[in-house]
Amino acid sequence: VPGVSDVRIAMTAERKELRIIAVASGKGGVGKSTLSANLAVALKRLGHRVGLVDADIYGPSQARLMASEDQKPQARDKHLIPVQSPVGVPMLSMAHLVEPGRALAWRGPMVSNALGQLIDAEWGDVETLIVDMPPGTGDIQLSMIQKHKPAGVVIVSTPQDLALIDATRAVNLFEQAHVPLIGLVENMAGYACPHCGEVSDPFGAGGAEAAAKEMGMPFLGRIPLAIDIRRRSDAGDPPAAGDDVHGQAFRAIAEKVAE
Ligand code: ADP
Repeated sequence: VPGVSDVRIAMTAERKELRIIAVASGKGGVGKSTLSANLAVALKRLGHRVGLVDADIYGPSQARLMASEDQKPQARDKHLIPVQSPVGVPMLSMAHLVEPGRALAWRGPMVSNALGQLIDAEWGDVETLIVDMPPGTGDIQLSMIQKHKPAGVVIVSTPQDLALIDATRAVNLFEQAHVPLIGLVENMAGYACPHCGEVSDPFGAGGAEAAAKEMGMPFLGRIPLAIDIRRRSDAGDPPAAGDDVHGQAFRAIAEKVAE
């Protein structure tokens, strides 16, 4: 008969297999949440056992992006049980726990505690956990790095963001903490014409790839600014679930992340 300590060892062993991939950016509005959601969906389609955590405690958006706003997680032995999104990705966000639109006025330790609850949940057979980080370099980032030890980080930036070195700051934070840099994704890279699909580059092309090289990390790919991506994201229908050109682009990035 296994004793309590055996159970604890078994749980620790199980917990160790969770490969946490943080998705981060230097500032907000660059498409970090959009990429996180689509990365999770694309990895699932590629056959990975993936879960999604919305670590943007103050401004959660994953419940809307993944059409799971109406779900409430249960708890077992003080651990949350993730909710299931319609596309079959288990997930947790503060939006599942607090009333929509209610402002949280929490200090660092409470935020760090909330993050712990979301990550140390009962993830079952999940092997890869995509964590949508809040923008910038604050308490949640430090807590994430120190307590939850991500296996790697994907940095998202737009072409303008790179010029403003916001992305560089995010890269530095993870680099200093020795979190492996999985690579850089350039979002809103060029404008995809909704009529003919042709992508034009109002901010020029190739800047992000060059910047990734300069910062010594792989370039994972570019996602254009496309009305369809915004429309489907708002409707809780991630483009990565589809087979069109955007779905393919997200899957190509997911393949590199999974390597
Ligand atoms: P962040 O998480 O970095 O704050 P979001 O993922 O919330 O950014 O994206 C900000 C807004 O831009 C959202 O309305 C989203 O739908 C839109 N968006 C993100 N990426 C794209 C894209 N490639 N094409 C069109 N709209 C996009």
